[in-house]
Amino acid sequence: MQRKRLGQTDLEVSVLGFGAAPLGDEYGVIDEGEAEHAVQFAIDCGINFFDTAPYYGRTLSEERLGKALGGRRQEVLIATKCSRYGLNDFDFSAKRVEESIDESLRRLRTDHVDLYQIHDIEFGDLRQVIEEAVPAARKVQQAGKARCIGITGLQLKALRRVAEAAPVDSILSYARYNLLARDLDDLMTPFAKERGIGLINASPLHLRILTPKGAPEWHPAAPEVKEIGRKVVELCEARGKPAPKAALRFCLDHPYISTTLVGLATVEQVRQNLEIFDETNDPELLAEIEDLAEPVLHHIWPSGHPENQDYPDPMEGKRKE
Ligand code: NAD
Repeated sequence: MQRKRLGQTDLEVSVLGFGAAPLGDEYGVIDEGEAEHAVQFAIDCGINFFDTAPYYGRTLSEERLGKALGGRRQEVLIATKCSRYGLNDFDFSAKRVEESIDESLRRLRTDHVDLYQIHDIEFGDLRQVIEEAVPAARKVQQAGKARCIGITGLQLKALRRVAEAAPVDSILSYARYNLLARDLDDLMTPFAKERGIGLINASPLHLRILTPKGAPEWHPAAPEVKEIGRKVVELCEARGKPAPKAALRFCLDHPYISTTLVGLATVEQVRQNLEIFDETNDPELLAEIEDLAEPVLHHIWPSGHPENQDYPDPMEGKRKE
């Protein structure tokens, strides 16, 4: 599989990455044995970038990923996170950032991670993220426990604000560039490109909306987004193209993003998603999807502190700047 350099780091990441949120049962209880096979099969197929967090399944994802990697640690790049530990449990203090890595390393059965990310920064006081969390992550890096550091979140302007004040190696954002969202290129890509910051695009299936199963119960998007997502899935089916494949192919065609992280838990999903490397998207189908998705293209949902929202009224209207 093709690999791309993550910004100016020395990490060469597979263009399709393994999102390990499902390993924490975030999308329903999974079969652990099957998930281990999925991890092994993904490595066999050239996927080398794995993203997890203590938050996913409240440490379950890290535990399972560490176990599933078995003796193949050297073949992969591991990204994990700190500062988010529950739905409303955040800690962006320097002390917690420095402690958290040791807990993650134990669960992941390794002595270092390749990328250490401050998780969902829009839930923090950005001043604390800038003055405490990022410098503490740099200390973790200097101690040899992480090769690179990054920040993650939904709110692009907050991510930019942090990266402007406290340089980071990568930015992970989710649900802002896929068949139902496009504003990453307005609010983030030029900034990241100019500074050589690696860009990681997560949730290409819009957190499962763009699959036949549809949105999980907890999905925060507005009903109209879910409804249009359902119609996109139906349209793709009618054209003989599974929606997850159309959605992934679309994301993989982005020229700057280094890697697209899709959540995976089964061998069959890995197999199906890898088929996109032999396929292209029909431009007519893409145009139809774009028309269908137009009314919700820039709808996101509130996430984090009020002052950190990209849009004052994220559920209404059209968002393009
Ligand atoms: P996603 O859009 O990748 O959707 C994942 C869901 O789609 C899972 O239920 C998965 O089983 C299913 N799926 C995958 N391939 C499929 C296929 N071919 N057919 C049918 N269903 C399929 O959402 P996600 O998992 O939330 O995002 C991907 C990853 O990105 C996460 O696992 C996580 O590692 C990362 N992420 C990070 C943040 C953050 O740091 N704030 C936020 C979101 C996601």
